[in-house]
Amino acid sequence: APPRPQGQGNGVGVPGVRHIVAVASGKGGVGKSTTAANVALALVAQGLRVGLMDADVYGPSVPTLFGLHERPEVENKMMKPLEAHGLKIMSIGFLVEEGTAMIWRGPMVMSALTQMLNEVSWGELDVLVVDMPPGTGDAQLTMAQRVRLSGAVIVSTPQDLALADARRGVAMFQKVDVPILGVVENMSYFCCPNCGHRESLFGHGGARAEAAKMGAPFLGEIPLATEIRATSDSGAPIVASAPDSEHARAYGRIAEAI
Ligand code: ADP
Repeated sequence: APPRPQGQGNGVGVPGVRHIVAVASGKGGVGKSTTAANVALALVAQGLRVGLMDADVYGPSVPTLFGLHERPEVENKMMKPLEAHGLKIMSIGFLVEEGTAMIWRGPMVMSALTQMLNEVSWGELDVLVVDMPPGTGDAQLTMAQRVRLSGAVIVSTPQDLALADARRGVAMFQKVDVPILGVVENMSYFCCPNCGHRESLFGHGGARAEAAKMGAPFLGEIPLATEIRATSDSGAPIVASAPDSEHARAYGRIAEAI
């Protein structure tokens, strides 16, 4: 995709990082982190220099997605991102004890985020993908406002409830003039591995219709698939572990479209 202009506003940028792209969702559990990880890997496959920053303070999943559990090294007061599959990775999960229940107030979320942006030696990156905390509360709004974002990708399932939340997500970014790069429909359908029947568990096509209504690009659909879940749990998301698979190609098309 042609480079988009760097986001406007006075938000915090990162020296050496050309674009910061947020992956967001109106609510948890819709596959935001899975999408962020696989799209980041697909951007690496395009030959870009990519970082993935897991800012989901309520449930960081990047350590599990990449099987990374060590603490980052500190050099000259800067944390070194961990690396996997060509990605530079930093997660709030590397910085706190695993399994710790995290009840964060807005200002704490913001300071953790600022630290991950400014006190990590990201180096030269074409894109830094930020896995946002789910929801559209104060913390998220502050983040959208204070980080110099080039754009946001919204992940939703086709279910009405999730779509209503996705709409709030789009509105939140629009309010602070962050361009919506598009909407991804995750868990779009389930393909029975035995008989090949396609079942639309949560309804189908809802996100595409919703994106059209909001004037946002529709980036594509990702089915509910065992391989996507299993590869994520094993520490090598599908784009890294099965780059030629149908699902990996679907993430590749999303990465090309943003
Ligand atoms: P979120 O970041 O929105 O909370 P996650 O990415 O952590 O959501 O996904 C929630 C759960 O659903 C995880 O167990 C993940 O492996 C699974 N999951 C996400 N997307 C898919 C998919 N397309 N197919 C199968 N499982 C998925």
